[in-house]
Amino acid sequence: MTLPFQIDLSGRVAVITGGGGVLCAEFGRALASCGAKVALLDLDGNAAERQAAAIRAQGGTAIGIATNVLERPSLEHAAATVLAHFGPCDLLLNGAGGNNPKGTTSKESYESGDLADPAVSSFFDLDQQAVEFVFKLNFMGTLLPTQVFAQQMLDRPGCAIINMSSMNAFRPLTKIPAYSGAKAAISNFTQWLAVHFADAGIRVNAIAPGFFETAQNQTLLIDQVSGKYTERAEKIIAHTPMRRFGITDDLLGTLLWLASPQASGFVNGIVVPVDGGFSAYSGV
Ligand code: NAD
Repeated sequence: MTLPFQIDLSGRVAVITGGGGVLCAEFGRALASCGAKVALLDLDGNAAERQAAAIRAQGGTAIGIATNVLERPSLEHAAATVLAHFGPCDLLLNGAGGNNPKGTTSKESYESGDLADPAVSSFFDLDQQAVEFVFKLNFMGTLLPTQVFAQQMLDRPGCAIINMSSMNAFRPLTKIPAYSGAKAAISNFTQWLAVHFADAGIRVNAIAPGFFETAQNQTLLIDQVSGKYTERAEKIIAHTPMRRFGITDDLLGTLLWLASPQASGFVNGIVVPVDGGFSAYSGV
């Protein structure tokens, strides 16, 4: 990890949901490098603790807490643990999120006969529970942690919330209607919260990463047999003016900027694309 610049977060407390995952573990390392006391919350408590231990090994301050962002008692336990170890939360990064294969169509567009073809997973085969799971994980998994941790931020200067949106919130991506809709809800909720909490002194913004190769999208981007990019991955690259996938370091400048009250103290309610130009490109 290479920090693009340093901000001073000494004495500040950062809570990161999904902190055992690829992007958010790196966010934790970046914030800890700037002096924050970092709590990594994840359904996978072992991953959270492993990543926290890595931060401690580098001289940072971090704890991992097994937490389910969809269960209020679990979040309240995490909030009490953070308060006891570090004090009140100054920065909440809502990173837990993801898709479900059963909320995904196998083709980009419907073709005649797909409804009757058992080999095709069409719009009509989308699994209700999977779609509900994706909406719940991304939207409720952002709303509930905010209800719990924003209570620790009220009327304390310099507090901020950063949500994780996505490219597909601007324009839906083919095949993944549930994830696209859920991330659009995150962008909308980010604006709503920014307005709602403005008088309480909490800034709320979101990062919309473009395409990053992570565990979550491996099967969509890499052919599991040949190990080469799938047709979809090639298409993404072709529609990304900078002609590459993102690396986690690409997100750190935006993270630190939005986290710093000195750098972005009057920035509130925005969704920042970090996408190599994908969202700006019309395709011709
Ligand atoms: P990841 O799958 O590596 O990490 C997500 C983490 O969330 C995992 O560690 C998982 O255990 C945790 N999690 C899942 N359900 C949970 C729950 N109920 N409670 C607590 N934790 C739970 O994903 P990532 O690629 O690092 O993505 C992080 C965020 O960025 C997600 O919100 C994702 O949707 C978003 N995002 C990722 C990309 C990308 O290209 N990777 C692009 C746009 C947006």
